[in-house]
Amino acid sequence: MRLILLGPPGSGKGTQAQLLARNFNLEHISTGDLLRAARAAGTPLGLRAKPYMDAGKLAPDELVNDLVAERFRRSRLERFLMDGYPRSLSQAASFDALLREQMLDLNAVVLLTVDDEEIVRRLSGRRTCPNCQATYHVENKPPKVPGVCDNCGHALVQRSDDRPETIRARLMVYHKDTVELIPHYRAQGLLREVSGEGKIEDVYENILKVLNVKAGPSC
Ligand code: AMP
Repeated sequence: MRLILLGPPGSGKGTQAQLLARNFNLEHISTGDLLRAARAAGTPLGLRAKPYMDAGKLAPDELVNDLVAERFRRSRLERFLMDGYPRSLSQAASFDALLREQMLDLNAVVLLTVDDEEIVRRLSGRRTCPNCQATYHVENKPPKVPGVCDNCGHALVQRSDDRPETIRARLMVYHKDTVELIPHYRAQGLLREVSGEGKIEDVYENILKVLNVKAGPSC
């Protein structure tokens, strides 16, 4: 399976990506996670990305393209899931070229749709684990102990870009830059649309349906 998950911030891409990656043994490539790790480690790339991330804007294409290309060239990836990349037409062109170079075909691009009001509600209640990247929601998916990660026991945090004004900026970026990818992948016959509203398990089942695959070992 070689997939791209597309959708606005807060559409559940990260949660669905974790389920798909675990159940189908896919390499989960999240450019947001890679950039946050680079920031936390204080690398030059992380420091360059920081102001864009804090403002809810896209980091420069060449920076993110290089990050992804470096991962694909390091060791051959037969089964992967892209989460948060590509995010603009120019990134898609660069990724198309990288896949040609690596002689890899995509199986599908799954578009998760959620309306903007619901996104603001979801993101403002989101809490994440800075240690293992697990995500929670104070109402929809609370951890067993408030403020503590179920997986690793680390204290949960609210991402700095999940503040209301940054959420609005990120949504604007999605509507301006990322939606252009929809016709790009539709023209390649790869686009599969799934509603991202409703329960996590139901959205996951619907993704499996459009991909025409049976559930993996555990959910
Ligand atoms: P995410 O966790 O995917 O919501 O990404 C968080 C932030 O990281 C975004 O708001 C951008 O600032 C940056 N980012 C992540 N992926 C990309 C990308 N493909 N292109 C540019 N910036 C990105």
